Amino acid sequence: MRSVATAGAVLVTLAGFYAQSGAPLDLSAHRLIDLTHAYSPRTVYWPTSPTKFTLDRLSYGKTDGGYFYAANSLCTPEHGGTHLDAPIHFGEGKRTAEQIPLEQLIAPAVVIDVTARATADRDYRLTREEVLAFEKRHGRIPAGSSVLLRTGWSRHWPNAKAYMGDDTPGDASKLSFPGFGVDAARLLVEERRAGAIGIDTASIDYGRSTDFMVHRVAAAQNVPAFENLTNLDQLPATGATIVALPMKIEGGSGGPLRAVALVRR
Ligand SMILES: [Zn+2]
Repeated sequence: MRSVATAGAVLVTLAGFYAQSGAPLDLSAHRLIDLTHAYSPRTVYWPTSPTKFTLDRLSYGKTDGGYFYAANSLCTPEHGGTHLDAPIHFGEGKRTAEQIPLEQLIAPAVVIDVTARATADRDYRLTREEVLAFEKRHGRIPAGSSVLLRTGWSRHWPNAKAYMGDDTPGDASKLSFPGFGVDAARLLVEERRAGAIGIDTASIDYGRSTDFMVHRVAAAQNVPAFENLTNLDQLPATGATIVALPMKIEGGSGGPLRAVALVRR
């Protein structure tokens, strides 16, 4: 898949190819990368979250009928673990989880690697200049792409103190981790028309943010976000395809997300 093509062009090209050939997508030509942390009692949530992920066993074992049967009940806040932020999370009247077009969830991925900078400064924010420098090396970011910020932060998962900068329950005032800067976010969603943005930290806004401007800038353009991604180090800067399908919650402001990437071998 050409990294310089727009998402729309890619979809049209694929649709045309498969319509002509009748062949299914050749998955053997791709590596499948899991960008998702598993949900468990260790899943990291925002410190003010009243609850975490819970999995209650409803059944486990042999039934009266002689066969094995297992089933659980799960409960989780929408925003924790690898999850979606729907535009309505910070945008009144914007799209809820089930309203996000699939074209914004399955799209060419662009990965901006700032691991070195974030390692040197845990309050690092991506700048507009760095996005432009990335484009000098890799070409203009196509409209419709998912722009993923690789900070290297998932190496801290699930150590909440290292990952969030502070693990005091109920207190979000001392968080510290890298994120998108506001000017970079404006460039990506307003000028480049990214379909989605994502990051391997707990928030697209850096940890010290108190106004959540990156969330607000993205929400205003109906751009969803993917947070707490992992394995971004296994993706090329351009050329991968992300499939980021959240739980389809009617009216949801976000929700658990299973994100994978297809990388051509
Ligand atoms: Zn969120």
